[in-house]
Amino acid sequence: MPHAITLIPGDGTGPEITAATRRVLEATGVQFEWDVCQAGAEGLEKCGTVLPDEVIESIKRTKVALKGPITTPVGKGTRSANVTLRKKLDLYANLRPAKTYPGLRSRYENIDLIIVRENTEDLYVGIEFQRGTAGHDEILETIARTNGQHLDTSCALSIKVISAVATRRIVKFAFDYARANQRRKVTAVHKANIMRLSDGLFLSIAHEVAKEYPDIQYEDRIVDNMCMQLVQKPELYDVLVLPNLYGDIISDLSAGLIGGLGVAPGANIGSQYAVFEPVHGSAPKYAGQNKVNPMAMMFSGVLMLRHLGEREAGDRLERAVTMVIAEGRNVTYDLKLRPDDPSAVGTSRVADAVIEKLYSM
Ligand code: NAD
Repeated sequence: MPHAITLIPGDGTGPEITAATRRVLEATGVQFEWDVCQAGAEGLEKCGTVLPDEVIESIKRTKVALKGPITTPVGKGTRSANVTLRKKLDLYANLRPAKTYPGLRSRYENIDLIIVRENTEDLYVGIEFQRGTAGHDEILETIARTNGQHLDTSCALSIKVISAVATRRIVKFAFDYARANQRRKVTAVHKANIMRLSDGLFLSIAHEVAKEYPDIQYEDRIVDNMCMQLVQKPELYDVLVLPNLYGDIISDLSAGLIGGLGVAPGANIGSQYAVFEPVHGSAPKYAGQNKVNPMAMMFSGVLMLRHLGEREAGDRLERAVTMVIAEGRNVTYDLKLRPDDPSAVGTSRVADAVIEKLYSM
């Protein structure tokens, strides 16, 4: 039976990397039934919204989507299609592997990290108050009454929300992922020494959940120390689980450790649906030039294959892409020593090279 997949090419350079990724996925021999849905600039043009309802309906039917990046138009109150998608489908876990491969220009070797970022709460809930807005003075009065702190009335406030329910499900997700993927250790990252209640709750729930997984090592790290440790000895770490804001920052730091955005894959996963997409954006300045690196999206395709239970095909595709990286001949400008290297190839040539490797295995 073919796997039904919602395919969202996105906009900017999205359609080019999506076409390249679709070709390599089909070359693995796994059967797909693609439901191609327009979102982003094309969705806006055709349906007046960056995220037409049919996209959500399609994912609700297929349960799995492969998505190219979508440009977020600046201003005019347009909501980000990416954030809306995550909210509407309750994609609570953001999974971002960061792995070094021979041939990548990185200062490190042997990095193999999985960042599990909570996707729904923390400072990202969007509850904010500034002087003159409804509720601002009441909140200041409540703080003065209950906490004894008289904050300056000119202050703006952003509320950090950490719940036991969301923490439990993200930490369980990290441990389940570790177990299913033969990983040895989970590290919970926090700042519970300062935010004793919010991060303290995150930490105590993480400790509790860890007891349910005696086969997986567990430890915790304070986020500032974690940053230093990742720069000094990233090879000591395996799966990291973090609240939303720290997860955002640490996952970009980790992409930097392994050689950049062109090879950084991602997935947004909930209890019912999963959307696989590269970490990078739509790089609109290169749109239509057959120039950017499709490997981050191909590695997102590897994650998708494993999610679909096609582990062997996923491993094969990962090997094929890494062989192309190691050879260094058929890679895009971003993997060259200098971005203007004339031997850099285009997006579609990378797909040809990966397919040649797949067929030669
Ligand atoms: P970007 O990731 O699109 O590009 C930043 C720079 O990184 C590019 O100029 C390019 O030099 C490089 N780059 C990115 N992807 C590359 C690739 N595959 N190969 C080679 N080089 C690559 O970030 P941005 O310019 O901040 O964002 C552009 C748009 O994308 C914005 O509208 C932003 O909101 C959106 N965005 C979307 C997503 C998503 O859809 N999930 C994620 C991030 C940003």
